[in-house]
Amino acid sequence: MKTVIYVDVDDTLVRSVGAKRIPVPRVLAGIRELRGAGATMYLWSSGGGEYARRSALELGIADCFDGFLPKPTVVVDDQPVQEWRGLTQLHPNEGVESVLARLRGRALESSQPHPSGGTS
Ligand SMILES: [Mg+2]
Repeated sequence: MKTVIYVDVDDTLVRSVGAKRIPVPRVLAGIRELRGAGATMYLWSSGGGEYARRSALELGIADCFDGFLPKPTVVVDDQPVQEWRGLTQLHPNEGVESVLARLRGRALESSQPHPSGGTS
């Protein structure tokens, strides 16, 4: 399964104190690492897709994303979100190492020939 990552804007990439917007460098670096490792990434926000796009431009990471979206308020799906296959929620305070390992493990798998003597 492809690694597709949806990233939030406010209080994830950038914090606001009054009118001042303060980028979160550790998270921005994590976004660059994930993109470098081949993740498909979308930036979304309750403020809308255009706000997400403008924020990415402001933070200098617009090139990391495949698209900009509003966050959903209704999801129509036969499966509950918490049962989606392979879905992981990562808090911005956690590092991206676990996701990087997943991406790099997959790259390694696809670059290696199928082990000889395998049954499948
Ligand atoms: Mg937020």
